[in-house]
Amino acid sequence: MTTADGRQICKACQVDKVLADFHFRNDNGKYRAVCKACWGARCKKWHQDNPERRKAHRDKWERKNPGHVTKRKADYRERHPIKYRLWNLLNPEKKKQLNKDWKSRNRPRVAAQAAKRRAALAQATPKWADFEAIQDVFIEAEYFQLEVDHTVPLTSKLVCGLHCEDNLQLMTTADNRRKSNKYWPDMP
Ligand SMILES: [Zn+2]
Repeated sequence: MTTADGRQICKACQVDKVLADFHFRNDNGKYRAVCKACWGARCKKWHQDNPERRKAHRDKWERKNPGHVTKRKADYRERHPIKYRLWNLLNPEKKKQLNKDWKSRNRPRVAAQAAKRRAALAQATPKWADFEAIQDVFIEAEYFQLEVDHTVPLTSKLVCGLHCEDNLQLMTTADNRRKSNKYWPDMP
């Protein structure tokens, strides 16, 4: 019960506290009868006692709020760069698994980035290359279960092709191995 001086006794810990120590409930326009500290402890206990139901709640919420969790995580990483790196250092196995999960969810992107790295090593990416368009080719390759090939090879004894969207073509793995870096259009 709220007293005139804006205080309330917590139903759980029986401590007389200021209203700021209680959550305001928008659904019924009242302060919660249990203080924030006790409510937090109660929630924590419920989460510990009901891991599956907690996960179900979280999954449901994530489905209703797509992208929100990713953004929250990115914000967290930005705000706590050292903490985040420390966690990675202290949990190498978990980090490895997370990376693996991310890669399997973003395969075309990973393939496009790997190609970009290789091309950069070969110094074959022109300034005007359109990475979005290049990534689209890799998405198409993933969809048709094909490989992305550089029509004119990036590195061979005679030519140096460019890593750009116009020099990419889709190929089966077998054809790509056969072609290797030995064939290109108009070759001598
Ligand atoms: Zn309390």
